[in-house]
Amino acid sequence: MSSPCIVSTCPRPLDPVVGGPYCNIHGKQLRRCGSLEFTSLKSPERRPYILAARALLPPGLIGEMQQLLDSLPFVDQRNVNGLRPAAKARCILVNIRRQRGADAARLILAAAIGAECCPKPTSNERYRKVQVARSIFRLLRSQSFELFDKRVVYRISLQGGRAALALCDMVEALTYFWTKDNRQRIVDAAKNERGGAH
Ligand SMILES: [Zn+2]
Repeated sequence: MSSPCIVSTCPRPLDPVVGGPYCNIHGKQLRRCGSLEFTSLKSPERRPYILAARALLPPGLIGEMQQLLDSLPFVDQRNVNGLRPAAKARCILVNIRRQRGADAARLILAAAIGAECCPKPTSNERYRKVQVARSIFRLLRSQSFELFDKRVVYRISLQGGRAALALCDMVEALTYFWTKDNRQRIVDAAKNERGGAH
């Protein structure tokens, strides 16, 4: 009999596909949320921080993100299978750009910075990065195609974790210093945002 999952209260056996000391449920939870104990931030939790970041973004940073997006070659969402994590992350960004047009750079930055500044239940680095990536990824819509008279819908999956980490790193390379200097302004503005919503 195989030993049970690393989560002490979990009686399920290890899952060989997951490739870690986890059962299938906890392996999935770790990939999806970046943490075994905590689930992902909910949209209403992130939202005030995303709106606050969107209002405070400097034009220079938006310009840099625009440059990054413009430098990426277009890759169809159908062609991501087998791509390495960084290439998959670029594909996610370039498809958001195509779908969201001129607003894409601003939306991506605000999604990333908002999720970064939103309070989290743990200081775990993997959880932080997965949450930032999920926030960006939510901007991506599925794409549908006509295939032999059948309508087929494709959307890149973020499952697998490593693409999520690559996506966070790619955007954070631009946002890191600005977020560090402006975190408190965003947190304060988000509080007003929430207060104003009542
Ligand atoms: Zn388990």
